[in-house]
Amino acid sequence: MRFAIVGGGATGILAAAHLARRLDPANDEVAVIEPGETLGRGLAYATDDPRHLLNVRVANMSAFADEPDHLYAWLRARCGADATSPFSFISRGLYGDYVADLAEHTLSNRLVRRERARCLDIEERADDVRLALSTGESLAAGVAILATGHDAKPTLGDLPAEQPWSAGALEGVSPDAPILILGSGLTMVDMALSLERRGQRGPIVVLSRRGLLSAAHRPAPPRSLSASEIPFGAELSQLLAWLRRLAARFTAEGADWRSAVDALRPHTQRLWGAMSLEQRRRFLRHARVYWDVHRHRMAPQIEAALRALVDSGQLTFVAGRVVVARRNGEDVEVEILRRGAGAAEARRFARIIDCTGLCEQPLKSANPLLRALLKRGAARPDALGIGFDVAPDLGLVGADGIVSRRIKAIGPLARAAFWECIAIPDIRLQCAALADALTKARAPSAAARRLEASAGS
Ligand SMILES: Cc1cc2nc3c(=O)[nH]c(=O)nc-3n(C[C@H](O)[C@H](O)[C@H](O)COP(=O)(O)OP(=O)(O)OC[C@H]3O[C@@H](n4cnc5c(N)ncnc54)[C@H](O)[C@@H]3O)c2cc1C
Repeated sequence: MRFAIVGGGATGILAAAHLARRLDPANDEVAVIEPGETLGRGLAYATDDPRHLLNVRVANMSAFADEPDHLYAWLRARCGADATSPFSFISRGLYGDYVADLAEHTLSNRLVRRERARCLDIEERADDVRLALSTGESLAAGVAILATGHDAKPTLGDLPAEQPWSAGALEGVSPDAPILILGSGLTMVDMALSLERRGQRGPIVVLSRRGLLSAAHRPAPPRSLSASEIPFGAELSQLLAWLRRLAARFTAEGADWRSAVDALRPHTQRLWGAMSLEQRRRFLRHARVYWDVHRHRMAPQIEAALRALVDSGQLTFVAGRVVVARRNGEDVEVEILRRGAGAAEARRFARIIDCTGLCEQPLKSANPLLRALLKRGAARPDALGIGFDVAPDLGLVGADGIVSRRIKAIGPLARAAFWECIAIPDIRLQCAALADALTKARAPSAAARRLEASAGS
C-alpha cells in the first residue's frame, strides 16, 4: 500500500520513520509531501536562536519511545564529549538537526520518497485517496496521513500586532523602543530572549489576562500512578482537588508538585476522553491556563535568563487586556485595562508582538488543504471548535459523522480528540500506534528488517 504523509515537520517525519520500520518491501511505499525546503523542523525546530531550548528533557525526546537513548546516542555521535546529559535541555535548533537527520535516514530507505509540494485537496474514493498537489500533479494512495501541524494564522487578527515567527517582526525597531508582548506563555519567553539577544534595551511589557508565567523544571523525583488511582470522569472541581491532594502528598514525601503533574501525563488522554463535552468546556474556560503553566515548563536556564530581565527592570508583567490599539505613524497607541482597574491607561509602543498562541480553530485555518476538506464536508470541526473531529483510530470524521478509513490525522491536528498530543513524547506514541494499525496483521518481514539494517541506524 502507498501511504501519503502530508506535512514534513517533526510529526510527519516521525510518522514516516515509524512506518518505514514496518513496511513490506514487496507492497508498500511512503510519500512525504512537504512544500518547504527542509524536513523535520516545522514551526518548533526551525529556530537558529541557541537560547530557544526544548521544554522537555533529552531523555523524553527520542523519536522512538521504545528506544529512549536514540536522541542521546545521536547527540554523542554529533557532539562527542560535549554532548550534554540525557536530563538536559538542548536547543530546539539542535533537535531540528536530529529530526532532519532522521528524515535523511528515513528517505535513504528506497521505499520512502519525498514530494516537494503543498497538498491542496484530498478526495477519498472507494479504493484509494487522490491527493491534489500544488505542482498540478495528483498522487494516489491507500491512506493519507495528515500531519499539517500548527496553523500560524494570527489569533488576534484584529490588532496591529506582529507574529513572533514573522521574519520582519522587529524590522526598523530602535533598540531603545518599548515593545508590548501579548501573552505570557513559552512563546513570550522565546520572544523576550530573542529581543535581548538582538540587543533590545528598551522596556518590554508582557500583557496577559492573568499575568501567569510558566513554571520551570526542577529535578523532581519521578512518581507513577496506576489508572485505578485516578478519578476518571469526575467533575472538574473534584479532579482539581484530587490533583492538589496528590501534589501535597508527593511534596510531603520529599518529591514536588511537578512529580504529580508528570505522573498524570501518561493518563491525560484517557482523562480527556472520559470528560463530557460540558466538562471539557469547563476545563478550557477555567482550568486550561493553570494546567498549561504547570505542564509546559521552561528549562531552568531559561528561567534564570528571564529572571535577569525582570530583575533589571527591563521586563514587566501586567495582568489585563488591550481595550483598543491603533497605529500612529511608526508606533502603536494602546489602551490597556489592568485587571481590577476602573479605567484604561494609554501607552505607546514601537511594536506589539502577538504571543497568545497558535490558531486552533479549524474554521479560521489558512491552510488550503484543511479549508478544502472542510468545504467539501470531508472534515468537520470538533464540537468545541478547538480542532478537527478525529475518531479514536485517528480517522478524520466528515460532516456526515462518518469516520474516514483512508484519511488519518495526527499530532496537533488531532488535539481536540486527545488533548495531549502536541508534544513529541505523545506524538511519537501516536505515530507508532498508527504505523502498527496500518500495517497490522503483518509482522515486519525479514526482508523489511534487512532493508532497514542496510540503511544504517
Ligand atoms: C515554538 C514551539 C516550541 C515547541 N517546543 C516543544 C518542545 O520543546 N518539546 C516538545 O515535545 N514539543 C514542543 N512543541 C510542540 C510541537 O507541536 C511538536 O513538538 C511538533 O513540532 C509538531 O510538529 P508538526 O510537524 O505536527 O507541526 P509543524 O511544525 O507545524 O509542521 C507542519 C508541517 O506541515 C507542512 N504542511 C502544512 N500544510 C501542508 C499542506 N497542505 N501540504 C503539505 N505540507 C503541509 C508545513 O509546511 C510544516 O512543515 C513546540 C511547539 C512550538 C510551536
